[in-house]
Amino acid sequence: MGAVESPRAWGGVGQQLAGRLAKLDLRGPRDLLLHLPLRYEDETRLTPISVTRPGFPAQIEGEVLSAEVSLRPRRQLVVRVGDGSGTLVARWLNFYPSQQKQLAPGRRVRLFGEVRGGFFGDEMVHPRVRSVEAGEALPEALTPVYPTTSGVGQATLRKLVDHALRTEALDELLPVDWLRRLGLPGFAESLRALHHPTPDADPHALESRAHPAWRRMKFEELLVQQMSLRRAYLARRARSAVALPARGELTAALLASLPFRPTGAQARAQSEIAADLAAPHPMQRLLQGDVGSGKTLVAALAMLQAVENGWQAAMMAPTEILAEQHWKKLSAWLAPLGLEVAWLSGSRRKREREAELARLASGEILLAVGTHALIEDPVTLPRLALAVVDEQHRFGVRQRLALREKGDEGRRPHMLMMSATPIPRTLAMTHYADLDVSVLDELPPGRTPIRTRLVSDARREQVIARLREACLGGRQAYWVCPLIEESEALQLQTAQDTFAALLEALPELRVGLVHGRLRNDEKSATMAAFSAGELDVLVSTTVIEVGVDVPNASLMVIEHAERFGLAQLHQLRGRVGRGTAESECILIYAQPLSETGRARLKVIYENTDGFAIAREDLHIRGPGEFVGARQSGVPLLRYADLEADAELIEPARELAEELLAHEPATAQALMLRWLGGREALLRA
Ligand code: ADP
Ligand code: MG
Repeated sequence: MGAVESPRAWGGVGQQLAGRLAKLDLRGPRDLLLHLPLRYEDETRLTPISVTRPGFPAQIEGEVLSAEVSLRPRRQLVVRVGDGSGTLVARWLNFYPSQQKQLAPGRRVRLFGEVRGGFFGDEMVHPRVRSVEAGEALPEALTPVYPTTSGVGQATLRKLVDHALRTEALDELLPVDWLRRLGLPGFAESLRALHHPTPDADPHALESRAHPAWRRMKFEELLVQQMSLRRAYLARRARSAVALPARGELTAALLASLPFRPTGAQARAQSEIAADLAAPHPMQRLLQGDVGSGKTLVAALAMLQAVENGWQAAMMAPTEILAEQHWKKLSAWLAPLGLEVAWLSGSRRKREREAELARLASGEILLAVGTHALIEDPVTLPRLALAVVDEQHRFGVRQRLALREKGDEGRRPHMLMMSATPIPRTLAMTHYADLDVSVLDELPPGRTPIRTRLVSDARREQVIARLREACLGGRQAYWVCPLIEESEALQLQTAQDTFAALLEALPELRVGLVHGRLRNDEKSATMAAFSAGELDVLVSTTVIEVGVDVPNASLMVIEHAERFGLAQLHQLRGRVGRGTAESECILIYAQPLSETGRARLKVIYENTDGFAIAREDLHIRGPGEFVGARQSGVPLLRYADLEADAELIEPARELAEELLAHEPATAQALMLRWLGGREALLRA
């Protein structure tokens, strides 16, 4: 983002107001048209005071019976209003002399607000006031309430929107046959219906946004999002990258050396990626596969395709533990082929690091694995042609871009992003539509399903007994300590306490501890010991969440499971069930369970398929968290809802293609209407 420009005044809006409106992303009348109401208030009716109900908004009209500034319990204006059916108190904690005048005894007023039982009996706090004459007509339509910011009142917004509706051209930009087919009203008609509902408009449909006018606007919004993603995709395809034809020498050698065959899904993903890499345009592909589906092998094959052509490939992972594990795995697979893999992480000694850097910079080593250390300054990969990002959602947009920039002279490497958080279809079609996607929808054979058990805190002793029995039988176990979002120190403390308690309870077992505060070499020594079977139980904070692969570990205990998110629980559970032993995941929860806590545990208990879990997660949390780090890259949806409006997404996508291909001027006008000058920022 560049320097903050000071907002300029525009048509009837002074500089100060323009500045405030800019905070709402309102930079001109066109934006106001699309600034749609948050909700509506019904001022078309009066409610007699005697029948108002606490907790519900109402409009009453009556005469001010008394008005006084009371000093207890604190300074406030207290006004009693009567309408013949009853009386009601209205209170203002902040008030101006002009309000006192408007509310002087004997004046007639309409008050709109929520009624509640209060200090003085039934009351309204800070209701909206309007002075009226006796018998004055009521508004005929629902009153829109707009999203706003401090210093911009509803009345101002309404006036500005009305003005825009009168002066702006409200051209229909969507093809009429599409509107007819989808049963959607026209643009002008829809805007008027939303900003100025007619008296006969169904208030419920307006509130719930199921009204055809809402659907029309949401469809247009989805359409614009699809067009802008599609355009970004096409623009990227037009760039050039190094073509890396599949020569098959190294990839075949790796496959021949493995003790297993790739699954059908792995083979499919590999050939999709191989075809992309062979093209002279940068690949931008997301490899989605549930935990344990074998993404690392697919990545390794892609990296070898770069090496076969004499180019470099790098893989970035979000944690030290994971990067090291990838490095070890790749080294073990590739050393027999005569290939070295550089390892870049914060934990390597300076001298070793510098030696590796020099060999990467000279092109002597073609493969690198690392944490974000890979994107730090001194690293140069002059012949970088493929960048792989594991657990891509853990990185920000900027970090992924930085990796891409590591190549020479800004040459675009191919990008392969990997994620074990399955993305529900609606989300994939909206927020990830600029990526090609390969899916590993099959687990390698020989995995035994994981049994999940929910156990209350009170039965902790039984869990420990189970742990003892399993480990004495030669199995290994993880014990994951609770996530404590408020305090990292507390989280650490809990892990240490748990470690001490388990050491004491299980003297016959070898128990280890990893947490985020350990030095990298300590962490890695403990992980290595667990991997080698020298520890029976590994107590950890959530640092093991991502990608750790120890096939002999077949028991997972998660404490305070109710505090974890669904994706996280699924990831954690995926750490077991990787070998042939029957695996078990014990979720310990604390009573009492919150509504969401209960819902999450139920989902994780009933489902093992990551996609099903992700769908439920989207349902419980909404798309915001999934999209996470992508946000700065993708136009967010203001109105459309991925669940409620799911059936509009597919047609929006079709029409987007059609307009871009055959009606570029219309496409442009639509994007200008919705995105203004913002589209330029959207893409990288
Ligand atoms: P993830 O997709 O979660 O990253 P990994 O790549 O870590 O999964 O793979 C999980 C485990 O499965 C690893 O031990 C890996 O070597 C093994 N694996 C991968 N592909 C296969 C296969 N086709 N058959 C058997 N085991 C496999
Ligand atoms: Mg992985």
